[in-house]
Amino acid sequence: MAVVVVGAGIAGLACARSLTEAGLAVRVLERSRVCGGRLATKRYDDRRTDIGAAYFTAQDDGFTSLVTRWQERGLVREWTDTLSVLDPDGSHQTTGPMRWAAPNGLRSLAEDLADGLDVTTDRTVEWIEPGPKVDGIAADAVVLAMPGPQALRVLHPELLNARTAVEDQRWLPSLAVTLVFPSRDWSDFHGAFVNDHPILQAVFDDGDRRGDTAPVLVAHTTAEFAENYVADPAAASDEVEAAVRTVLGLDTRAVTAHVHRWTYARPTAPGRTPFHLDEQRIGIAGDAWGNPRVETAWLSGMELGKALAAQLA
Ligand SMILES: Cc1cc2nc3c(=O)[nH]c(=O)nc-3n(C[C@H](O)[C@H](O)[C@H](O)COP(=O)(O)OP(=O)(O)OC[C@H]3O[C@@H](n4cnc5c(N)ncnc54)[C@H](O)[C@@H]3O)c2cc1C
Repeated sequence: MAVVVVGAGIAGLACARSLTEAGLAVRVLERSRVCGGRLATKRYDDRRTDIGAAYFTAQDDGFTSLVTRWQERGLVREWTDTLSVLDPDGSHQTTGPMRWAAPNGLRSLAEDLADGLDVTTDRTVEWIEPGPKVDGIAADAVVLAMPGPQALRVLHPELLNARTAVEDQRWLPSLAVTLVFPSRDWSDFHGAFVNDHPILQAVFDDGDRRGDTAPVLVAHTTAEFAENYVADPAAASDEVEAAVRTVLGLDTRAVTAHVHRWTYARPTAPGRTPFHLDEQRIGIAGDAWGNPRVETAWLSGMELGKALAAQLA
């Protein structure tokens, strides 16, 4: 038997590593073809673009030392501590924590964490029963490392503690629209948060953060706008492109546009505990267990792994 971790986003992979380091046998099952979840990099027109997390920040000591090791190996680089804020009545710059980016796309970090683990991709888990059992097969314990609504879909009604832990989570959708331009007609711009806009929430310069200076912008839409395009996300591209060109004052049209819909982009409220773990040996981790960020998801998975290893010992 082994601990089964369902979901190979950063939370699931961090949890699997933490359990492995504690000497436990672990299997990771991921429904997608690749690892990473919302740490997502997609290949468009033969170039990688980050379409999920725009960047990450690092404050926790453990996460910071992992980031330092990634930096030493050239997997991540400091991007910027300064982003723009576009308001209806003007714009200004805001300085905050260092935002980190990955030259090969943020998904490369998930691939790095998955290295050496027993990960099966293209494997959708349908049902977690008391036992616990994963699709009928007994496990030592089960970790669900995913948004609450996705966990609820697979949790048996008798796994009441786990269901109760996530049933109040509410999540918002977003569209990520990749716009490839003929040339870089913007200057002095890493990325911008867009305030009080009906369509846009943020726009990031993917060529700048990835470091290859490709003329590629990624726009993230508001949840309200994304709700209008549930059936046909691709139909949103013209409106998003027009909005981006207006807020950035760009004359040229994009050459191509690619739309990706995130049904569960972010939870509406930050969780108050770092993870869920109960006596039926069901754990739940992810970015909903704190401020919804990459670092939170990593920490949630790591901490759950440590607690579960202690419980099983
Ligand atoms: C558009 C967008 C922009 C963002 N920007 C930032 C940012 O700038 N900075 C930042 O820090 N964070 C950002 N985030 C948030 C960040 O991406 C997340 O906090 C983090 O990636 C969540 O990781 P996770 O492992 O908790 O969940 P996920 O990455 O969602 O992983 C869950 C995994 O579970 C898998 N799964 C689900 N159900 C099943 C099943 N039944 N069987 C098998 N596998 C299953 C999924 O396929 C997925 O791989 C952004 C997110 C989005 C969507």
